[in-house]
Amino acid sequence: MNEIIMYDVLILGSGPAGLTAALYCARAGKKTLVLGGDRLGGQTAGIAVLENYPGWAGSGLELAEFMKKQAEIFGAEIKFVSAKEVAGDAESAFNILCDDGKRYVGKVVIIATGASPRKLEIDGARELFGRGVSYCATCDGFFYYGKDVVVMGGGNSALNDALYLADIAKNVKIVYRKGAFTRAEEVLRNRVSERENIECLFNTDLKKIAKTDDDKLCITTTADQEIICDGLFVAIGHEANTDYLTEDVKRDNMGRLIPSEMPKGMFVAGDVESEIKMQIATAVGTGCSAAMDAIAYLNQL
Ligand SMILES: Cc1cc2nc3c(=O)[nH]c(=O)nc-3n(C[C@H](O)[C@H](O)[C@H](O)COP(=O)(O)OP(=O)(O)OC[C@H]3O[C@@H](n4cnc5c(N)ncnc54)[C@H](O)[C@@H]3O)c2cc1C
Repeated sequence: MNEIIMYDVLILGSGPAGLTAALYCARAGKKTLVLGGDRLGGQTAGIAVLENYPGWAGSGLELAEFMKKQAEIFGAEIKFVSAKEVAGDAESAFNILCDDGKRYVGKVVIIATGASPRKLEIDGARELFGRGVSYCATCDGFFYYGKDVVVMGGGNSALNDALYLADIAKNVKIVYRKGAFTRAEEVLRNRVSERENIECLFNTDLKKIAKTDDDKLCITTTADQEIICDGLFVAIGHEANTDYLTEDVKRDNMGRLIPSEMPKGMFVAGDVESEIKMQIATAVGTGCSAAMDAIAYLNQL
């Protein structure tokens, strides 16, 4: 029979939130295991040039590799397996079944499994991802200086993206399938309506996307109208990666975990958490904060 190792801290996710939490927990002398999912770095692995994480000039993956090494220097262990089920509780210890068929046991769990942008499922969207189609205006907006872009969506994220892009791009069109931005905050609606280079196309949905001969995007709407632009930013929501948790762990209306509502001994950090502004800097900040809460909790056991 395999020996069961009891960890002080099990961390789910090897993105910036999970790796930061690992550094803090390991450096505080806690026996720490990161169950890092299918790949190091989470969403950062897809960032070729990271320009807005203070103190860093390099790719997102290089940052994650550096964070991993730093956590390992202080004794954190990392395995690239994904959680399938979290059982147990703070009284009896948590045990996490992973996709390698093994169970890992720990006194506390820090959840940092991130969120994935809801993907646009129309013809051409998958093929043109990274070649005109983006899910992150803050990350990719810079490449559209003085160009024409379209934002798809009608919630706060879409309007925030449109306002951000309006400072960079020449023209921004927001396409939204409903007749008004009823899901977005009034302050954002007002700001959008005040911007001369933002146009809103309501009751409009998208059917397909293709490249034109001169490397622009041709977006066809469900009403067969064609929009020619340089970039399409999709902001139709995010899905938190929490499938492996039971229903009784409380989520907000976006499916994200609410830090103050977590069961005893469970902590949350990064994009999986409600209310967060989804950036590396905020993931690192909440990773640090969740680790400090977990350390304080362990110290009073
Ligand atoms: C294309 C793109 C570009 C971006 N550019 C920037 C940028 O320029 N600047 C910036 O600040 N932000 C950028 N972001 C956002 C930033 O990457 C995220 O906000 C940040 O990575 C969130 O960190 P996280 O640790 O919370 O989650 P993630 O980075 O999403 O990491 C989640 C981790 O959890 C793991 N995981 C998932 N499910 C499980 C499971 N069941 N069990 C165990 N592990 C699991 C994943 O494998 C991953 O390791 C970008 C995002 C994208 C998609």
